Amino acid sequence: MLLSSKLPGVGTSIFTVMSAMAAEHGAINLAQGFPDFDCSDRLKGLVEKYMRLGHNQYAPMPGVPALRKIMAEKIKSLYGLTVDPDTEITITSGATQALYCAVSTFIRPDDDVILVEPAYDSYRPSIEVNGGRPIVYEMSAPDYTIDWRLLERLITWKTRMIVINTPHNPTGKTLKEADWKELQHLAVNRDIIVLCDEAYEHLVFDGERHESLLRYPLIYERGMSVFSFGKTLHTTGWKLGCIVAPPDLTKEFRKVHQFNVFAVNTPMQHAVAEYFETPDDYLALNDFFEKKRDFLLGAMSNSRFKPLHSEGSYFQLYDYSAISDEPDTEFVKRLLIEHKVAAIPVSAFYSNNKQERVIRLCFAKQEETLAKAAAILSKI
Ligand code: PMP
Ligand code: GLN
Repeated sequence: MLLSSKLPGVGTSIFTVMSAMAAEHGAINLAQGFPDFDCSDRLKGLVEKYMRLGHNQYAPMPGVPALRKIMAEKIKSLYGLTVDPDTEITITSGATQALYCAVSTFIRPDDDVILVEPAYDSYRPSIEVNGGRPIVYEMSAPDYTIDWRLLERLITWKTRMIVINTPHNPTGKTLKEADWKELQHLAVNRDIIVLCDEAYEHLVFDGERHESLLRYPLIYERGMSVFSFGKTLHTTGWKLGCIVAPPDLTKEFRKVHQFNVFAVNTPMQHAVAEYFETPDDYLALNDFFEKKRDFLLGAMSNSRFKPLHSEGSYFQLYDYSAISDEPDTEFVKRLLIEHKVAAIPVSAFYSNNKQERVIRLCFAKQEETLAKAAAILSKI
């Protein structure tokens, strides 16, 4: 009983496994999603400034007021929603902790939570460890769209939450206004919380706008939006993010957050608050990452890997069925060991390990890195 696992199906995450293998074999790592370039010197200088100013003790539990205030201004200007920084914004230890805490706050044993797969790896265990039941809506290659009428059929009186993600990891797909209208129709008048992972809010390409949950006030009445500053600042190692939710949901969220981490890194919160005063940097990210996506697409254009369209995020999917019919986990291992390029098998994002012969490459890398990897992949 002592060692009876609450998460018997969980092993080491595919991101950790592939990064470790990439290091071991000296492979180019386009697997785990993190930039291979540094964050801005100005931002690093601001962290030092606030450390030297003595901001080295516990932050207030919901987050440094200056950061919550600038986040409220950012949300107003980008998504048109007025939120109260004191009662609707909580600074978290990255998006992962926000998502985990949101699920822990609201999911009781035997509650159903609808997940859209392929899905980011942290959602399912967060639900299961709290005794909830993940109910899967499965999307499919190559389009990875949601048919909301079919998703609606999964909703029962036990459904407590729907977890969605836009821009989407791993597919790079984004939700459109029409999707939100459908979701609004499903969620409003039902006692269902919508939890939206918006870690890649600033990485939306081709002139499209990010359709945040926060643009939809009727959904926001029962909605929570999660953001990751790691993606916005090229600082995935800082593990900073935030969750935005109406006061009644935030009040409950903070009861759990308070005893989960209590508060997160103080000098970095001050630094990010000051850094966000100049929006130009984060507003430039769409173009910055779109160029990287296009660079990778261009460099791979003569390869036998077939690209699936990426509308946002760090990721570009490739169909390798013209090269091999191996299962994707076998294929990425061979790619890594024989060709020294690390990728992520998309089956890892499906609870049934669905095989679509598709791999994920991360293009949040310097052009030099992408060029080297693409030169290798184009010869296969
Ligand atoms: N959600 C998605 C969709 C992600 O891809 C990631 C990781 N990159 C996270 C959440 C976790 O973000 P964080 O590092 O801020 O915890
Ligand atoms: N979100 C990153 C990815 O999808 C990985 C983060 C992690 O390793 N947990 O690659």
